[in-house]
Amino acid sequence: MEKAEIYDFLIVGGGPAGATIARMIDPKFKTALLEAGSKTDPGKLCGGLIAPDAQKMLGKFGLSLSKDILVDPQMFFVESHDLQTGNSQKYQRFYLNVDRKRFDSWLLSLIPSRVEQHLATEYLRHETEGNVISVLARKQGQQLIFKTRHLIAADGGQSLVRRRTVKDFPRINKYVSLQAEFNSMKPQTGFQVYFDRSLTDFYGWSIQKKESLVVGMALKGKGAKERFESYISQIKPGTELRRSSCTIIRPGKFSDFRTHFQSNVFFIGEAAGFISPSSAEGISYAFKSAELLANAINHGPSIASSYWFSTLKIKTGLLVKKLKSMVIYNKILRNLIFMIGIAKL
Ligand SMILES: Cc1cc2nc3c(=O)[nH]c(=O)nc-3n(C[C@H](O)[C@H](O)[C@H](O)COP(=O)(O)OP(=O)(O)OC[C@H]3O[C@@H](n4cnc5c(N)ncnc54)[C@H](O)[C@@H]3O)c2cc1C
Repeated sequence: MEKAEIYDFLIVGGGPAGATIARMIDPKFKTALLEAGSKTDPGKLCGGLIAPDAQKMLGKFGLSLSKDILVDPQMFFVESHDLQTGNSQKYQRFYLNVDRKRFDSWLLSLIPSRVEQHLATEYLRHETEGNVISVLARKQGQQLIFKTRHLIAADGGQSLVRRRTVKDFPRINKYVSLQAEFNSMKPQTGFQVYFDRSLTDFYGWSIQKKESLVVGMALKGKGAKERFESYISQIKPGTELRRSSCTIIRPGKFSDFRTHFQSNVFFIGEAAGFISPSSAEGISYAFKSAELLANAINHGPSIASSYWFSTLKIKTGLLVKKLKSMVIYNKILRNLIFMIGIAKL
């Protein structure tokens, strides 16, 4: 089925990046958003911690969270552990602990009705003819064609739009993130972070969500599942309820970031490669990049170059984090700075 109208902007993905740009794009543009997930989906695999930078962005947007999005406990410190040496260190950092499904649904609910929202609608591929892009999507087994002048990829770290457009995805450093939920008998306080070079060169985490404890680790290479079991057996979190996995990208070079393709396809949030290589915190970058692209669109005329320049600060900031992570994820240096008390993610 082909939609008769031609949109100015078609957004693929309704996570923090897509929902934010849909809210901020000027009403004069005819805009639609496709989101593969539906209201009844369990939601995405995520720690669900709103870090200080993301809190700042919510403040900048004039948004407040209602208590039904928050889950106990709220976190005021991080405790990092080196599982190999037994060293640990605590430092202050304030996180809002949220139910990620409710958080994303709330962001979608803020999108004005002038933006057409198509839930449970999955982008499949697109082709360009002149200055019109035809997008093939699928909803409940039915194929739909949307026509648009510009495409905005906000479809996350495994962005299919990016894979279909620029084919640079295989070059980006990727991990499998395994996460399991436990019925924990003893509620944990703070955000617990685990390092173990024999298991991963990234990190593991455990986060209390009401009565459950979510334990995860980002791993690379063969035997990831076995290494995850070994990690779990060291933490001994309780009775396992469920387990899930997803891919997590870890940008490390300038070419991992992609803001646009030609002058009509744009990338925001994790689809652009904007996620911290040291902590995997990505919600603040989703907010920031969506705001920057909305500004470039609303003020025109050269959206691509204006967006590219305005994201330089994000890109350099993330590359600095990559340098920092080379210290944090080095066993000797980390234990040295554990001793002097400055090993922060
Ligand atoms: C295990 C894990 C834990 C994390 N914990 C945190 C944390 O605690 N705090 C934090 O700040 N960040 C965290 N992150 C990172 C954070 O989840 C992302 O960086 C952030 O969600 C990026 O937002 P986004 O809108 O760019 O992409 P996403 O949130 O991934 O949203 C993309 C959206 O696009 C939709 N989509 C995908 N493909 C299609 C398609 N083909 N058609 C239509 N729709 C599509 C998806 O359903 C999704 O809703 C974590 C990541 C992982 C993997």
